[in-house]
Amino acid sequence: MPAIAPTRYHLSAFDPNAHLFEVRCAIDDPASDGQRYRLPTWVPGSYLIRELARHFVEVRAENAAGAVAIAKETKDTWRAAPCAGPLTVIAKVYAFELSVRTAYLDATRGYFNGGAVFLCPVGREDAPCTLQIAQPDGPVYGEWRCATTLTPAEGVWTFRAADYDELIDHPVELSAFQLGEFHAGGLTHLIAISGRVDVDMMRVERDLARICQGQIDLFGGTPPFPRNYLFQVMVVGDGHGGLEHRSSASLLTSRKSLPLPDSADATDDYVNFLGLASHEYFHAWNVKRIKPQAFTPYDLSRESYTRQLWAFEGITSYYDDLTLVRSGVISTPKYLELLGRAITNVLRTPGRHVQSIADASFDAWIKHYRPDENSPNAGVSYYAKGALVALALDLTLRLAGRATLDDVMRALWRHHGEAGVGVPEDRILTLASELAGRDLGDFFGRYVDRTEDPPLAELLGSHGVALELRAATGANDRGGKPATTNKARMWLGAKLGTDLKLQHVFAGGPAERAGLAAGDTLVAFDGVRASPEGLNMLLERLPAGAHVPIHHFRRDELMLSNVVLVAAPLDTAWLAFDDQATDAALARRAAWLGTDAAMAATA
Ligand code: ZN
Repeated sequence: MPAIAPTRYHLSAFDPNAHLFEVRCAIDDPASDGQRYRLPTWVPGSYLIRELARHFVEVRAENAAGAVAIAKETKDTWRAAPCAGPLTVIAKVYAFELSVRTAYLDATRGYFNGGAVFLCPVGREDAPCTLQIAQPDGPVYGEWRCATTLTPAEGVWTFRAADYDELIDHPVELSAFQLGEFHAGGLTHLIAISGRVDVDMMRVERDLARICQGQIDLFGGTPPFPRNYLFQVMVVGDGHGGLEHRSSASLLTSRKSLPLPDSADATDDYVNFLGLASHEYFHAWNVKRIKPQAFTPYDLSRESYTRQLWAFEGITSYYDDLTLVRSGVISTPKYLELLGRAITNVLRTPGRHVQSIADASFDAWIKHYRPDENSPNAGVSYYAKGALVALALDLTLRLAGRATLDDVMRALWRHHGEAGVGVPEDRILTLASELAGRDLGDFFGRYVDRTEDPPLAELLGSHGVALELRAATGANDRGGKPATTNKARMWLGAKLGTDLKLQHVFAGGPAERAGLAAGDTLVAFDGVRASPEGLNMLLERLPAGAHVPIHHFRRDELMLSNVVLVAAPLDTAWLAFDDQATDAALARRAAWLGTDAAMAATA
């Protein structure tokens, strides 16, 4: 069979001030009945129909004879009139979304996920691709560099990919970024940081090197990507997000999350950044290569349903912070604090009694990425509860003594990741059961398919860690630490924004019982003008059973509700080393958390 001629793409920053890329796609042999083109409707790793085609503002086509007619057939497909090749389609794409999922262009920066800008000629999904990126003219762009893990080809900013799937899985960053470099697993890792920020790059390099090496070691010592790995980091005033790719990760982070030169201890924000980087790196194995069967191959034209996102996101969320402590980037007490906060977050979600993490996975397309005022009451995050179920599964396996979740991940890597075989819907249960030497159907039934809370207090106890529950001490108390005060505190059962609007009213709580609703603007408590401080004082001073008249607006109508306060629930978790732990429990803890934990245990 003759080699298929490549699909040739050309991208230029056509008008940065209008945020327009011009993207050309040329093929030699258009289909005889008119070549069709398709744009993805979603981006792998982010399970929402994003309708990327809505940012295509102009599409035309031409061949050697001149213009060729092209028209839309559906929301995400176009068809050119039958014509002789080569045929080039030229699109103008509006790119001004500061997100790791789509595309962005202005005079300071260009960024794109291929799926947001590259039309795929239908029938040529498996054809090789070339990409040439034009260097923008003008002094403003003189400092721009290009950071991507696409395979370089001959020529400046010229790349190639084996097929369309590969082309769109290497996002491209164009800007005057700062560049860091480190080695892990024998391969070069690059960090490209865009945006205005003063950063201690050596520290970021050192910490990321330990994290990446820790994960490479977990999976057997060899990185899964063929050449280098790239962290693309966009720094903004306020923001947090990441998206995984096969050899890179795009991160959006706040300026204060990166360490200043000569700064002392790691701040909470920096630990948060490292956790995000660790999370996306773990995905290089778990979801980029160990994939649900439903994603092999990806169908980017419509939703791809799986009940396993809890495993791909939840297990990854469990390992992101666990890697930080195992690689010595954070201390064991800091890890226990993070875990306490993660447990608190789930305990404060009444919807965990309503929706299972298997159902949350299936409904990601309509729920997870579209949270609303009722989300905490009606659902649970497959990330947040998924991470706790992963923890419970790991500790359950460790207690049984034959295997750990690390072994499950290595087996998944061998049988599915390396082998390139999708993971069937019941595979993690059967694999974990095999390794444990006993049927884990009851565990998966309760905590994955149904809505029970995993028995974390008991499991952590058997690993030398005490799980304590207490009431929240204030609106900003996220848990993870012992209480700062012993004073009893009341609970309104609602989340108040700084604009005095109720963001969430929790199911079964005092606010709901009194008739308050999300969206209501509070005006006065007990006849005194409402303020967050005033509410805090009220909850600290009044006893359980106290009646508080609350004036509030719903739409433009003034209403009065009488709230009967109750004592704040014990929904705030913190963890500590258990002084009474048996030697067996101490040994299990050391094996779970690594040598640092063993040292801390004897200190
Ligand atoms: Zn993730």
